[in-house]
Amino acid sequence: MADFERLRADWLSFDEALGRILACASPMPETGLEPLHALGRSLARPVRARATLPAWPNSAMDGYAVRSGELAGRGGEAEVCLPVAGRSYPGSVPLRDIAAGAAVRVMTGGPLPVGFDSVIRVEHTDGEDTAGSVILRRLDDLGKHVRRAGKDMRAGDRTVAAGDVVHSGTLPVIAASGCERVRVFRRPRVGVLSSGDELVGADEFERVIAGEGIPDSNRGMIAAAVTEAGGLPVDLGIAPDDPAGLESRLTSLAGIDLLVTTGGASMGEKDLLKRILLRLPFRLDFWRARVRPGSPLSFGHLRTGDGNELPVFCLPGNPASAFVTFHVFVAPYLRARLGAKRPPGVTVTARTDDELRSAPRLTQFFRVGLREDEVGGWTRCALTGPQGSGLVRSLPGADGLAVVPEGRADIRRNDPVSVILLQGRR
Ligand code: AMP
Ligand code: MG
Repeated sequence: MADFERLRADWLSFDEALGRILACASPMPETGLEPLHALGRSLARPVRARATLPAWPNSAMDGYAVRSGELAGRGGEAEVCLPVAGRSYPGSVPLRDIAAGAAVRVMTGGPLPVGFDSVIRVEHTDGEDTAGSVILRRLDDLGKHVRRAGKDMRAGDRTVAAGDVVHSGTLPVIAASGCERVRVFRRPRVGVLSSGDELVGADEFERVIAGEGIPDSNRGMIAAAVTEAGGLPVDLGIAPDDPAGLESRLTSLAGIDLLVTTGGASMGEKDLLKRILLRLPFRLDFWRARVRPGSPLSFGHLRTGDGNELPVFCLPGNPASAFVTFHVFVAPYLRARLGAKRPPGVTVTARTDDELRSAPRLTQFFRVGLREDEVGGWTRCALTGPQGSGLVRSLPGADGLAVVPEGRADIRRNDPVSVILLQGRR
């Protein structure tokens, strides 16, 4: 245990800790997927248009295509009667060589005949009461209702950028670009391990009722947060606080890209995880950051049997500490490996209902709910309950984490505060 006892805590600032973590977040290997199967994921490669759309100048209205030059002088006439020389539907190629002075019936999306530049909407005509000719009653549509070719995209255009997320607004562009498979980053498989002799799974809850155990609140929470961040959780169960058992767990990790542990992270007698890691080929990047809750977190890389460097986050055991440190450190890491444009996530500014008291040497995170204030026009935030790190009841209502950065002491009631949005809320 000597290595651990000599280990000095790094006490990195929040920014430095996150920076070090993100510096290690190399992109996952790429894979190809059907676009719908890539929902919610960032693209590894841009999408390029394979065709020009619309392919032809076409009509934005159901109506009659005309040549404005032929009608420009006839605005004063009550009615203009033209022969109808053809019909145009979406998906057909433009008619050509239409006789001078004729109109063409055109449906919305149908190409304009070559040389035509206007569509008189059908409501401004008699709709061909007499077959073969149309009476135009108004000419205010001259020069209008034509969508130009290539207005949406031109062949070769980059229509979706790398890093953009696939969602219901992206899919029509991917489809229109003629892209059958998109490139994304493979989801990391994330081992989730709880540690602590006292922990009890749901199947043994009688022990908790009898006061003989602590419910394992972290495993499901971390697995869910892994999923929210785009990873695939792998349940590694509960590890007891015994050195041999822990060591065998940590040396038999296969098929995972990342390990997240909770518990055993600090200085208690039974806090063995880091001690065991330090006996193994483990490269510790840092231990401890100036954050609250969750300062005893650590991050490093474990050389596994197959020679790979497995990134390892050891999060503190208290559920709120594990929750916060996951969302501010591990989720950004996962998002970066999945090619997100803004791995640290999205923040909003909100005015706080509560005074937020913080130690100036720490970055402190508060679980808050958000709501719109109809009167002031501001987004407001309110604490979701007591902020003790061992409490779980303040977690479900949290839409975000209000941040009081290092160097700031208290934020007073009604002052603006930056709130990191949590994924999958509302
Ligand atoms: P530790 O980091 O192991 O010292 O744990 C700190 C506190 O968090 C202790 O009170 C533990 O009982 C508690 N704790 C650790 N892991 C969990 C867990 N998975 N679920 C609920 N509480 C936990
Ligand atoms: Mg423990």
